[in-house]
Amino acid sequence: MGKFLGYHCSLCGTEYLPGQVTYTCPKDGGNLDIELDTDAIKKKFHYEDITSRDETSLWRYAPLLPVFVPKGEATPLHLAGWTPVFKLPRLAEKLGLDHLWLKDESRNPSASFKDRASAIVVARAQELKSEIIVTASTGNAGAALACMSAAVGQKAIIFAPKSAPPAKVAQLLVFGAKVILVDGSYDDAFDLTVKASNEFGWYCRNTGYNPFTIEGKKTAAFEIWEWWIEAHRDWHKKDSPLDNHPPLTIFVSVGDGNIISGIHKGFKDLVKLGWIPDMPRIIGVQAEGSAAIANAYNADTEVITPVSARTVADSISVDLPRDGVRAVRAAKETNGTYITVTDDEIIQSIAELGGMGVFAEPAGAAAYAGLVKAAGSGVVGSADPVLVLNTGSGLKDVKAAMQAVVSAPIIEPTLEAVKKLL
Ligand SMILES: *Cc1c(COP(=O)(O)O)cnc(C)c1O
Ligand SMILES: [Zn+2]
Repeated sequence: MGKFLGYHCSLCGTEYLPGQVTYTCPKDGGNLDIELDTDAIKKKFHYEDITSRDETSLWRYAPLLPVFVPKGEATPLHLAGWTPVFKLPRLAEKLGLDHLWLKDESRNPSASFKDRASAIVVARAQELKSEIIVTASTGNAGAALACMSAAVGQKAIIFAPKSAPPAKVAQLLVFGAKVILVDGSYDDAFDLTVKASNEFGWYCRNTGYNPFTIEGKKTAAFEIWEWWIEAHRDWHKKDSPLDNHPPLTIFVSVGDGNIISGIHKGFKDLVKLGWIPDMPRIIGVQAEGSAAIANAYNADTEVITPVSARTVADSISVDLPRDGVRAVRAAKETNGTYITVTDDEIIQSIAELGGMGVFAEPAGAAAYAGLVKAAGSGVVGSADPVLVLNTGSGLKDVKAAMQAVVSAPIIEPTLEAVKKLL
């Protein structure tokens, strides 16, 4: 007996049984949503049964996931998720916001949000007894898959564009994956991976293709939900005037559109379970040079027209987003929106977050850059509580980080030289 009822095509609505399909809708290529048996879960669990669990990882939410927890314990796969939320009071003041927090996904085992998806896909691969898992990646999805696979002795093959930042390629290699660099874009690597997995029978993790990735990504929404309940409690204790505050607004950077769709799915699951009264607003942030989803959102269409992506934020550099339709809906159905930011704004945001003790890679900093714009244009107001996701670590792209700062002076090792410099 599996842990989910089946799949539902996000485009044509066709329902499939668990064994009927593996990736996308055979009719129209639409992304598939996994249907949980929410009625059964509701009968079995009260939300406090979840929030009182001991696990401090995404497996805390095992009853709400379509896979079983893989055997073993305390491996990186078992410890993904459960990332911290910090307050950013000085940046809040600067932006004129009463409440601003950052959820730091760089604290995941391979230092990006992608570990959430890869943990669940590796669990699925083990259930399917797949010998080899493969993914296309701009770097982070591959690093996450390689890390989670290494943790449980699963074989992984990664196709990345040869332009991937060296630190990400180093991660892939150190985690022991077979790494194939493609002389082309991420989109080229994506198409090649699909062909190769069909040809050789490998299990394909590709983002916006494998329906299990968003089931991992939705765990961030569950964590935000739990944290939000606690934050409320604090306010109530202090008799805060925020009792009637507006809903939480979440800022997330968007490439393929799978993280934003995953977060939306997580909150939708909670609404279905009756465990959350109001849906947060979800605001997607794209780089101006890679804005296919923002373009569709702004044109009020679900038709995603590919772009020729160019941005310093490699993790969100995508010509044809593979989860664009659900990503447009994530903003639309939550009273959110899309914001685009320039590379200069992204680089500037790396420095701003750095000044708070947070080291973000460009795609991670992009979410904060989006907030800066949103606060400036009134898309969020001072009373809106805001949570920004930092999706990846700055250590993954040191070259971009160095663009955000003035390089350090080099001096002779003498006190004279120090005095002269100061
Ligand atoms: C993958 C990634 C994103 C974007 O996620 P999508 O699902 O492609 O929209 C954002 N930030 C980082 C660091 C990522 O690795
Ligand atoms: Zn379909």
